[in-house]
Amino acid sequence: MPAHDIVIVGGGGAGLRAAIAIAEAAPSLDVALVSKVYPMRSHTVAAEGGAAAVIRDNDSLDHHAVDTISGGDWLADQAAVEVFVQEAPAEMIRLEHWGCPWSREPDGRVAVRPFGGMKLERTWFAADKTGFHLLHTLFQTSLKYGNITPYDESFVTRLLVADGRCQGVATIELQTGHVDVIAGRAVILCTGGAGRVFPFTTNGAIKTGDGMAMAYRVGVPLKDMEFVQYHPTGLPGTGILITEASRGEGGILVNRDGYRYLQDYDLGTPLDVSDERHPVKKSMELGPRDRLSQAFVKEQQKGRTIPGPYGDVVHLDIRHLGQARIDKKLPFVRELATKYVNIDPVYEPIPVRPVLHYFMGGIDTDVEGATVLPGLYAAGECACVNINGANRLGSNSLTELLVFGARAGKAAAAFAREHPPPDLAQLDKQGVEEQHRLARRFIQKTGGHERIAGLRQEMRDAMESGAGIYRTEAGLQAACDALAALRERFADLQLDDRSLTFNTELTAALELDFMLDVAEAIAHSALARRESRGSHQREDHPERDDDAYLKHTLAFCNGAMPRIDYQEVSITRWPPAERVYGR
Ligand SMILES: Cc1cc2nc3c(=O)[nH]c(=O)nc-3n(C[C@H](O)[C@H](O)[C@H](O)COP(=O)(O)OP(=O)(O)OC[C@H]3O[C@@H](n4cnc5c(N)ncnc54)[C@H](O)[C@@H]3O)c2cc1C
Repeated sequence: MPAHDIVIVGGGGAGLRAAIAIAEAAPSLDVALVSKVYPMRSHTVAAEGGAAAVIRDNDSLDHHAVDTISGGDWLADQAAVEVFVQEAPAEMIRLEHWGCPWSREPDGRVAVRPFGGMKLERTWFAADKTGFHLLHTLFQTSLKYGNITPYDESFVTRLLVADGRCQGVATIELQTGHVDVIAGRAVILCTGGAGRVFPFTTNGAIKTGDGMAMAYRVGVPLKDMEFVQYHPTGLPGTGILITEASRGEGGILVNRDGYRYLQDYDLGTPLDVSDERHPVKKSMELGPRDRLSQAFVKEQQKGRTIPGPYGDVVHLDIRHLGQARIDKKLPFVRELATKYVNIDPVYEPIPVRPVLHYFMGGIDTDVEGATVLPGLYAAGECACVNINGANRLGSNSLTELLVFGARAGKAAAAFAREHPPPDLAQLDKQGVEEQHRLARRFIQKTGGHERIAGLRQEMRDAMESGAGIYRTEAGLQAACDALAALRERFADLQLDDRSLTFNTELTAALELDFMLDVAEAIAHSALARRESRGSHQREDHPERDDDAYLKHTLAFCNGAMPRIDYQEVSITRWPPAERVYGR
């Protein structure tokens, strides 16, 4: 059984940043970096638009904080947001020193572009392939350190807890099917989001909420799971993202009449810190994502969207930017539109629709990434610190995984130094039990009647119809009931593939098992929140209700259905106000 000081699950942006932080801060500690795919295949690679951090003289940390807090409809923890905006610029410059090729202005300064809900231009970018360059920079930097041991293509199936603290993980080595334990004094979950719980998403196929479900199962609550973000511009059919940068660069959205319909909706930039020097313009296409996605549904209800083979769409028009600018600033947008919908955006508008994009909620952590389970930390999209509140602003997530990935790494290193090595005898016993569970429930099981694909599709349909952009009590209750029935049917699952080598049917079954837990937490949290805030819009409770719901939802794993509890929101300097938008 391999034993290390710290086990990191996830080789995406958050996992790599945490690993580097440990390697730098505590060179004597050794780190296991476990990932179900090669690190460069993690979803961070797909990020296009950019990462937000204050860099220009006309900007300020308070401006970034206020945009983030009001964009999140006052549900963000303000103490966490203050940490975030303060540490963000240094993280971005550090990335530059590690070799990240940030795009530049002609005078040599780092270029910044506007992004939705950000009042000033503060989104750093590397053309429209920011995630690729960011992940590559972190990956190549991690290779410098001899104390980071990669476990690529190792699928973690559960967290191992002994003597009241997390001491390791059980894994399947995908090439051999060998079930083993990787032990550590501390574990950091950096397993990303869970977009695949929904049918139509920008998220890669590996984003199945594994870490969220594993933490939930050992008693750590999932926080604010009802807040899931739809991105307003995905390609029909595949859900592939057309980055917000296309609107940041000047792209417009039009309906079936060629009308720029967003002018009819309240989408501007938050007013709080506007002053004479920074006049607030009406935002339109650069409004926050929740409002833009909701405006699409309203247009659809008015019959003003465009029917297509994969449902209704609107048009994203960037033709007026001209070929030279598109090729320089948005080359990937042109490539994706040409390849996936056979449309060259230099000459034709791109069909787009809202698609599930991001989870504001996740594993409940403090600003050091610590969970309530000693020895267990989490960072990146799987965690909920919470800086994103009820709606994340685009380009805050990449920065979040740098800031809080580094913090979780340092905190886990401090914990590891203070605690004894893992109890290998106890872990070995748990590893054997896990091996038997996997064999009994999946590999050797016979006589089951259910199939992965059918259950998975029914789960996704239940989530879209009950817990989508607009929600009601009846719809959410129906989703909860459907999920409970699917959970029972899952016990009757039958696999065909009994091989040990790259058994993708087994991993798909385990991922579905995780997704059912995540879906359950989303639907029950949403059912309990009887108000509308940010991305959580209840048609039966259309107003925000600060008296009853200015608090975080906590979903605890509790047998048949989750137990829902609440936690205070940290308010430091910005008392809740109406989420007013510029005219
Ligand atoms: C198309 C797209 C574009 C985006 N664009 C932007 C943008 O421009 N700006 C921005 O700020 N944000 C953007 N986002 C959001 C942002 O990219 C993500 O939130 C962020 O990259 C998540 O990083 P992460 O490190 O938390 O997880 P990921 O990068 O998703 O990595 C998760 C890791 O966990 C591992 N893992 C998961 N489960 C297991 C398991 N069971 N066993 C072992 N390993 C496991 C995976 O192998 C992987 O290495 C975008 C997201 C998408 C989908």
